[in-house]
Amino acid sequence: MSELPPIPITTVRLGAEEEALVLEVLRSGMLAQGPMVERLERDFARLVGVPHAVAVNNGTTALVAALQALGVGPGDEVITSPFTFVATMNAILEVGATARLADISLDDYCLDPARAAELVGPSTRVVMPVHLYGQSADMAAFTALASSNSLAIVEDAAQAHGSTFDGRPVGSFGVGCFSFYATKNFTTGEGGIITTTDDAIADRLRLLRNQGMRARYQYEIAGHNYRMTDLQAAVGIPQLERFEHTTSSRERNAAVLNEGLSGIDGLVIPTVMPGRRHVFHQYTVRVTSDARIDRDALIDHLGAAGIGCGIYYPRTVIDYDCYRNDPRVLAADIPEAERAAREVLSLPVHPYLSDADLERIVAAVRSALAP
Ligand SMILES: *Cc1c(COP(=O)(O)O)cnc(C)c1O
Repeated sequence: MSELPPIPITTVRLGAEEEALVLEVLRSGMLAQGPMVERLERDFARLVGVPHAVAVNNGTTALVAALQALGVGPGDEVITSPFTFVATMNAILEVGATARLADISLDDYCLDPARAAELVGPSTRVVMPVHLYGQSADMAAFTALASSNSLAIVEDAAQAHGSTFDGRPVGSFGVGCFSFYATKNFTTGEGGIITTTDDAIADRLRLLRNQGMRARYQYEIAGHNYRMTDLQAAVGIPQLERFEHTTSSRERNAAVLNEGLSGIDGLVIPTVMPGRRHVFHQYTVRVTSDARIDRDALIDHLGAAGIGCGIYYPRTVIDYDCYRNDPRVLAADIPEAERAAREVLSLPVHPYLSDADLERIVAAVRSALAP
């Protein structure tokens, strides 16, 4: 076993600013859907460069509300990635729609636009790319696909706060759905937000979030309670102020890892695609059959060296009976997604890694795969 302290795969650090703002909320007595939530919405809309950001209680809710605001329901089809966190799928099923799963590209681990295009049919309403690990999907291709087939775009940007494609932030191409869960690059513990340039969608989202209520007891649609608390918003606001700094630390750490881990047989390091900003929610490598030891053995080796790692995700979403046997889940052949599930491994990349931590991670992987 390692004598050195373990290096966790994620670390959350909140400080005096968050404490002060949370205390302000506690003392104000305005605990839910109040001025702090409004302030967070304003700040987040600025980050994404859109006029509207609607805060909700988590990222899954953000996806559900986005689909509801677009009027997506039973009989409608949503094309998405099979290589994602299960929430993407659950949101589609929650609104009663059908999920069509197209294969991914191993270059960016995101939905492959060419494969998605093959699944467009008369019932397709939405294409839902997932900006996996913090890198934008090919939004030029998805924008073209959506406009030539009159589809809406819902972006699952749960892992990609601050990521851009051709200089434009994710969440501004379609209806953007972000998660503020504890492990994400930006967190309020639990929470989420929906971004849009469309006034009518934003208005519907605000109604849906609050029981369909326009003004007190004036109900316009059947809604829900998706509201965020001001306590959560207060945890988030100070993080936005230093967000560029924490994001560039992730990018810098990823560059150091890429440099240290290049040229190892059977190890595929992450690619930052041209024109995209990868915000490295995860630093994810692939361990192929050319590697000296397999992925499980590498995980054991890293564990013994005190280095946290994780598999995101060990199976495609269709690889579970509850989805495989659901007539509303239809998958094309997805060999690349299946390969990714077999081979991926995420290493620590969070902003609180020291140079010594990064050296230890590189040394541990090298000693296992290229001794
Ligand atoms: C985290 C995540 C979600 C769901 O967000 P929650 O806030 O946990 O509900 C959705 N999609 C992806 C890709 C995620 O990583």
